[in-house]
Amino acid sequence: MVEWNPDIKIVSPEEATQHIPFLREAYRAAYDSHDLVTHTGAVIVRNGLIISRGYNHFQGEAKKEVDANPALLTDPAHKEWKNKNITHAERSAIQNARGNGDLSDTIKYMPWVPCRDCADDVLKASITKMYGHKELIMKTPERWWKSCDEAISILRKEDVDLYMIEGRIGGVEHLFNGELWYP
Ligand SMILES: [Zn+2]
Repeated sequence: MVEWNPDIKIVSPEEATQHIPFLREAYRAAYDSHDLVTHTGAVIVRNGLIISRGYNHFQGEAKKEVDANPALLTDPAHKEWKNKNITHAERSAIQNARGNGDLSDTIKYMPWVPCRDCADDVLKASITKMYGHKELIMKTPERWWKSCDEAISILRKEDVDLYMIEGRIGGVEHLFNGELWYP
């Protein structure tokens, strides 16, 4: 079996305790996701306070199209349309953080890893530190490995620190790739 080994550091259990509550909030932000197969959420934190939340959803014209034709969300024939038009959680959290000025002193919590496009958004927003959840990251379907590896290497090259929290988050449920699990 092929295994994926994303190049992300794991934080010590002692250090993890201060980050778990924010990862839990990022999982909770995902409860509002519009996607019916995979929920994703992200929060941006400054000085220990959440300044922004985001989740994957449809905006503008795409939202109108989904409202008029809900099959766009459920019919696998429209998967490509969905993937192309959904706004990812990280992008959404970064958009919502606008108005909070420069984000270089913030930390982004997103249980999963960013895709290639979201990595660009992170760089544009000057975010330099990110935490994810190992148990979810290791569930990443093979079709995403390439995009995630590219995102990770781009972020590394620009000195963004990427970390994973290992172990149980507790108090949340999460829908990922059609599977409900308890992080
Ligand atoms: Zn993305």
